[in-house]
Amino acid sequence: MTWLDLPDDTPFGLANLPYGVFSTAAGPRRVGVAIGDDVLDAGGAAAAVEAPFAELLAGPLLDPLLAAGRPAWQQVRAALTEWLTDDSYADRVRPHLHPRAAVALHLPFTVGDYVDFYASEHHATNVGKIFRPDSAPLTPNWKHLPIGYHGRSGSVVVSGTDVVRPCGQRKAPADAEPVFGPSVRLDIEAEVGFVVGAGSPMGSTIGVADFAEHVFGVFLLNDWSARDLQAWEYVPLGPFLGKSFATSVSPWVVPLDALAHARVAPPPRDPQPLPYLRDAEDWGLDLAIDVRLNGHVIARPPFATMYWTPAQMLAHTTVNGAPTRTGDIYGSGTVSGPERDQRGSLLELSWGGTEPLALREGSTRTFLEDGDTVTITATASGPDGSRIGFGEVTGTIRPARPAT
Ligand code: CA
Repeated sequence: MTWLDLPDDTPFGLANLPYGVFSTAAGPRRVGVAIGDDVLDAGGAAAAVEAPFAELLAGPLLDPLLAAGRPAWQQVRAALTEWLTDDSYADRVRPHLHPRAAVALHLPFTVGDYVDFYASEHHATNVGKIFRPDSAPLTPNWKHLPIGYHGRSGSVVVSGTDVVRPCGQRKAPADAEPVFGPSVRLDIEAEVGFVVGAGSPMGSTIGVADFAEHVFGVFLLNDWSARDLQAWEYVPLGPFLGKSFATSVSPWVVPLDALAHARVAPPPRDPQPLPYLRDAEDWGLDLAIDVRLNGHVIARPPFATMYWTPAQMLAHTTVNGAPTRTGDIYGSGTVSGPERDQRGSLLELSWGGTEPLALREGSTRTFLEDGDTVTITATASGPDGSRIGFGEVTGTIRPARPAT
């Protein structure tokens, strides 16, 4: 029960309580928690009730809360639940609610290192068939380790930020020489992101069993990708300019503790990975993702089909002793299921541009056109039939700027 008047079936109910950073028209950036159709100024509420951890929520970013570690995350979450359910808090907490439709949402924490993985067997198989039709779709290492690359954290932007079409070199196999110009194969990758709260020192490792001690929460991520730039540059060192121009993230970070009911067993692994990558607990997550292009659903990728879990990704990232820091993020890689309408990229949906996708208004797409808007949303199951919402990550493509 709650003293709040929550909409029926809201994806931002008491079981969710995702964190973000918001501002009102005139106000500074504040740490907020989405609840129903509102956002709670968590720092303001914590000060009003004189919470012992109020300092963690007082600033313009989630960084202090992230760095405080799991016992603090659990303490704050329990307190938020108490404030929003116990009538004795209502008079002090209610003044700190703002209609969510009236606030601006910002990048919620300082982004540290950014790694992007490639953890969907269906996606990796499809891309292998499209990019390397004469080879085995999966490389020999794929089922032995979660493949990843280091992305560019400086171009991680919050949902709603426009994306300028990148320029670069491209060379189709039949072309004699490369040419320079705006990408003509601009794409999306629907992904799920994870943020490290409590870091780990250089020389240490984070085992699969310690995932929840280090990872604070989960968000949505769109790894915008220029396929023509990528195809020409990625051998032998992997993606570079084809990915580094923009990565969009959703503004709400769903705490791991809100996803207890969404945890599922990952798919069977064959062969078994090396001991440091064996599951200690089930960290598959049953998230239902929708991908919309100009408002029309073009794919519904199921995150539960991912071959590698986020716990395995973090264990692999640190197994060589690399440190992690508060605000480090990693993406799952494109989420694609086995069915055609479950593919999380236009590369796969249009099969390398050979099978244009029909949109409902009668137009077709292979890759993105200027003015196109892509929006990714997701929900997970919560307790008692409730839904845990992730909100959205959206972005609109703007025309290329000429090189100077
Ligand atoms: Ca990616």
